[in-house]
Amino acid sequence: MTPPYALRLAKVRAQMQLQGVDALMVSVGFDLPYLVGYHAMPLERLTALVVTADKATLVVPRLEAPRVEHHHEVFDLVAWEETQDPVAITASLVGAAQRIAIGDQMWSRFLVEMLPRLSGRQFVRSVDVVGPLRIHKDEAEIAALAAAGAAADRVAAQLQGGEIPLVGRTEAQVSADISARLIAEGHDVVNFAIVAAGDNAASPHHHPGGRVIERGDIVLCDFGGTMRGYCSDITRCVHIGEPPVDVARAWEDLRRAQEAGVVAGVVGARCESVDTAARSVLAEAGWADYFIHRTGHGIGMEAHEEPYMVSGNTLPIAAGHAFSVEPGIYVEGKWGMRLEDIVVATESGPRRMNTTPRELVVL
Ligand code: ZN
Ligand code: ZN
Ligand code: ZN
Repeated sequence: MTPPYALRLAKVRAQMQLQGVDALMVSVGFDLPYLVGYHAMPLERLTALVVTADKATLVVPRLEAPRVEHHHEVFDLVAWEETQDPVAITASLVGAAQRIAIGDQMWSRFLVEMLPRLSGRQFVRSVDVVGPLRIHKDEAEIAALAAAGAAADRVAAQLQGGEIPLVGRTEAQVSADISARLIAEGHDVVNFAIVAAGDNAASPHHHPGGRVIERGDIVLCDFGGTMRGYCSDITRCVHIGEPPVDVARAWEDLRRAQEAGVVAGVVGARCESVDTAARSVLAEAGWADYFIHRTGHGIGMEAHEEPYMVSGNTLPIAAGHAFSVEPGIYVEGKWGMRLEDIVVATESGPRRMNTTPRELVVL
């Protein structure tokens, strides 16, 4: 398969032209690998990609140059020596550009030195230029999301199948176990493995700690990693022993809310309608005050990116948008629960990247 970078740079230039942007300058972060396939280490040495209408140049520290897969037809490579000034080199590549889009992750360490060299210019954020491209996943990206989702599903199946010992272990131990399984199933990196038992599950981003999992606990597991450059993210809950009636009933409300959110993720609908769909199911069931976060976030090269499924986001869902649908119910001091799948909007409807059963499995 031909690398997508030439096409992406062509699209980014079209976007620049549309927005009157003369130069794009990105450093660490994900716009860089998206545009040229190179992932920069977050070093004190400057790495920058400068894109103008007729030229793209990747500026890297000499010692990092061997890691660059140089697509000659797409960009020039400038490797700076330890004694050179990379800020001056990068600033000169901008040329006479008036309006310059700068990456969110261009550290102030460099930007502070860069700006005086570009005085009189106008600056905008590169997220507004590259973001509209990155939000639409192409076929290869969707395949990568599906593969990462399937790998996360295999770990979720191990959880539901009782293969991951829970009772008598700490949340932290189970988190480490899940992390190892994500790697064993093909992930390159683990991004997070939240394990929250009993009342700890009422804190959505609980940090797994020393609490020992016991019978009678609900155990919330929210985990994901990066596989071949794209992220997975799934949440499933299991109950150790039969759940109390109120918990079982709440789970059914949650399951219906998540389903409603997924079904609402159709092309042309507003992003916020996914949130509204899930939230109204929970509100009708009396949980309005217990669902304390947005319904979802976009996902791709980053675990959290555009588009956000939140009230107020009127962006129309388009084919290729990938996002989580993850409503939750959090009862402080008692228990919490969340159910999460990744969904990709397609012309033929929402397509789930996760297929693990959505029941509250009793172990
Ligand atoms: Zn989260
Ligand atoms: Zn998650
Ligand atoms: Zn998520």
